[in-house]
Amino acid sequence: MTSSDRSAELYERARRAIPGGVSSPVRAFRAVGGTPLFIARGAGARITDADGRSYLDLVCSWGPLIAGHAHPAVLAAVRAALERGTTFGAPCEAEVELAERVNAAYPAAEQVRFVSSGTEAVMSAIRVARAFTGRDLIVKFAGCYHGHADHLLVAAGSGLATLGKPSSAGVPRAFTECTRVLPLDDEAALAALFERDGARIAAVIIEPVPANHGLLPQRREFLEALRRATRASGALLIFDEVISGFRLARGGAAELLGITPDLATFGKVIGGGMPVGAFGGARPVMARLAPDGDTYQAGTLSGNPVAMAAGLATLDVLEREAGWGRLEALGAELERLLAPVLARAPFPVQLVRVGSLFWLSLHEQGAPRTAAALGERETRRFATLFHAMLARGVYLPPSAYEACFLSLAHSSADLGEFTAALGAALAELK
Ligand SMILES: *Cc1c(COP(=O)(O)O)cnc(C)c1O
Repeated sequence: MTSSDRSAELYERARRAIPGGVSSPVRAFRAVGGTPLFIARGAGARITDADGRSYLDLVCSWGPLIAGHAHPAVLAAVRAALERGTTFGAPCEAEVELAERVNAAYPAAEQVRFVSSGTEAVMSAIRVARAFTGRDLIVKFAGCYHGHADHLLVAAGSGLATLGKPSSAGVPRAFTECTRVLPLDDEAALAALFERDGARIAAVIIEPVPANHGLLPQRREFLEALRRATRASGALLIFDEVISGFRLARGGAAELLGITPDLATFGKVIGGGMPVGAFGGARPVMARLAPDGDTYQAGTLSGNPVAMAAGLATLDVLEREAGWGRLEALGAELERLLAPVLARAPFPVQLVRVGSLFWLSLHEQGAPRTAAALGERETRRFATLFHAMLARGVYLPPSAYEACFLSLAHSSADLGEFTAALGAALAELK
């Protein structure tokens, strides 16, 4: 189905040189079968594989490419920055500009520091939260993914759900002893934990719109309860906005929900396709970081001018094109187009959507709000659907637990093409 000669050949070579043939596990297609496509280029909403076949892309590199592939303004900014040199290991003007832009968009991030990935952003935010509060415990929610830092690899989202592993080998028990895991959508469990351990909790970290175990939008009351509980106990609330930041609104999920965290982490969109992460918070918290404070955190390539240029250019495109309004309109249009198609599906398929993020949930009894596991039958259905879509030139995320991403490069015609392909694929699965 997906075996294409050049991709298959590259995969064979990759498997000898790289564990599993990939640099990040979900890319290996293990959850859907077949061999991964090697991508040679992208333009707008489309990618082209090593065999010259073109696909409508609903992955968009898992979020960073909110302006689409190879956006001319982003490429021009990167080229201009490249000409001046790639990295200096010294401060540069572009990082000041991007930090100011983050602060203007996201007032809770009074100060920000740049790193090179979302994982690093989360690791660093947690370290500074522990330093600031003088406490050790960290609370996370089952199904939320916060990168692959040791102490957060507990009940952590799609890659792990797909692999059926609650956790990871290589993480000493002692590392996760200070991590508590709560279910989403459950005020009673939250209250019980704070009752027992509130005075020991340094921070609670959550994806305010969880998007790594399908898409699990939370009830406002639940998130408000979380804000109250953390404030009352002196724990910091960390919004992991690595996906939602600069995607769901200029001010991320915090703006969309009207809830202000103490710390926030960013990645993906903020790097415009280059390796960038950032974390930010109130001045007194961020002041704990070295060199002013006693909390060490550093990075050779952090804030490098080329990555900063890509991030700035991407934010410019979003501002100039009234991006957030357009992305919401695109999502709403897709929702309208898909409704009749999903109503005719031979098995339950629900569209869950928040702005330009959407998920085709195959759960039999409605879309869940917690990290519910899909049955074997539903997982098989997704694998079949994935390949039926690929055969029709549509590239979905290769896992039933992954959300899809729309970009400013997706047109109404693209949404129509997606809808027609999904209708035909579902009909074929009858
Ligand atoms: C992707 C992601 C991360 C990790 O970012 P990397 O750049 O892959 O290290 C952290 N948190 C969330 C919510 C993510 O989606």
